[in-house]
Amino acid sequence: MFGFAKKRLKTQNNMSNKNKNTYFGLSTPLGRSATATIRLSGWESKKTLEKLTAGKLDNPKHRTSYVVDIYNKNNTLIDNVIILYFKGPNSYTGDDLVEIHSHGNPIIIEQICETLLNLGLRPAEAGEFTRAAYLNNKIDLVQAESILSLINSNTIDGVNLSLNSVSGSLSIKTLEMRKEIIEALGLAEYELDISETDTHKQTIKVIKKRINRALLDTTKLISTAKSARINTLGASVVIYGKPNVGKSTLFNTLLNYERSIVTDTAGTTRDTVDVASTIGRHSVVLVDTAGIRKTEDIAEKLGVERTQEKINEADISIQVVTGAPSTKAANPNNITVLNKTDLLEKNEINNVRKNKNVICVSAKNKTGIPSLLKQINKKLDSKSQCKIETQITSTRQKQRLKNIQKELEKVLRNKETNLEIIAHHLTCAIKEFDSLLGKTSTDDVLDSVFSSFCVGK
Ligand code: GDP
Repeated sequence: MFGFAKKRLKTQNNMSNKNKNTYFGLSTPLGRSATATIRLSGWESKKTLEKLTAGKLDNPKHRTSYVVDIYNKNNTLIDNVIILYFKGPNSYTGDDLVEIHSHGNPIIIEQICETLLNLGLRPAEAGEFTRAAYLNNKIDLVQAESILSLINSNTIDGVNLSLNSVSGSLSIKTLEMRKEIIEALGLAEYELDISETDTHKQTIKVIKKRINRALLDTTKLISTAKSARINTLGASVVIYGKPNVGKSTLFNTLLNYERSIVTDTAGTTRDTVDVASTIGRHSVVLVDTAGIRKTEDIAEKLGVERTQEKINEADISIQVVTGAPSTKAANPNNITVLNKTDLLEKNEINNVRKNKNVICVSAKNKTGIPSLLKQINKKLDSKSQCKIETQITSTRQKQRLKNIQKELEKVLRNKETNLEIIAHHLTCAIKEFDSLLGKTSTDDVLDSVFSSFCVGK
């Protein structure tokens, strides 16, 4: 009934050839530190360990640590290290795995890597350890993405939600939804192939009940995408307005350093400038944009177009003005900032202050900035809140769920009564579930997921 099993086998056979050779990678950042961790994975890990320790560690035990000296090809001591050995399949990758914890000096790290190369190992590709874990069925694709999200999360909420998915809650939820659809398809196929009585109407009713349940769950999961993205990757906060209103000055003031060029000449910022920062407990990407005005200059025109794109994608947009702000109904994502208030009379400022949606600042003199930060923080608090415990952790997951949603909606919205058409949509939805979980995945999809990892992960 389902074509995925064959496809999966084919894909995985192709991939596992890659794992026949043993690879290594630095799992900690390169630099000076108390310790550094280099991992090796593959069938020659154990043999490599024996050679690296000049025969001392010839039969390491699973999950056991050893303090030993390691040597280069000339038998010269490299370092005194801690070795941890994991016998596959009970390791992170599912293959034999060794962790070398050396002293965190880049020279030592380089010597270890060179020795491993001399011993015939190859450097790992980005995300290869986690890719091996996926190919060896230790984790599914959703969990692999959640590991990436766990490493990259910039907030405690992001860490917690990623951890929840790494432990399998998102996979379990999607498997439950998939089961619902498989059972609905089973009913449809039984009715079509075997049932001789005319019970179509009743069966369709039962099938639609199941579809409805799965659709509600799908929609719920999709709704977590925005807050999850804000909590893991950070929110995009875009500063925009006409040229010379003080956008770059405000951008620098919010960052606390001179990142953007500030001049009296209009049209200086022609491209967007993105800088990661934090506001309150939130991680943000602050974006300075080209001033919006009609122009014939091609570079500036492109800059203005890019500004518009950034505003559309923004979680929060800050419109900087120097004159009377618009009285139009406030967009909930937008904050209007009246800048250069140091040049205004008190009564002029007081007039503007009557409009609670406008924040008065002087970016140059750094006044009014705490109120602005408070307002951004308040908006981010509400945007990042999510009462749903299981949340998605990547745009790929969101896209797959949207495809599932489309297939299920086609049955319900069209009040479909043709069982063959219903079965077709259910089959398409199951394929999307399989691709979501990585049961069927092409190398392209895997490359795009794992290339975002760092080398030692
Ligand atoms: P942008 O084109 O909107 O990015 O504006 P800039 O940040 O480059 O500033 C344009 C000019 O306005 C510069 O001369 C700034 O020093 C000046 N400026 C910016 N903010 C303020 C402010 O709060 N008060 C005053 N008086 N001048 C400011």
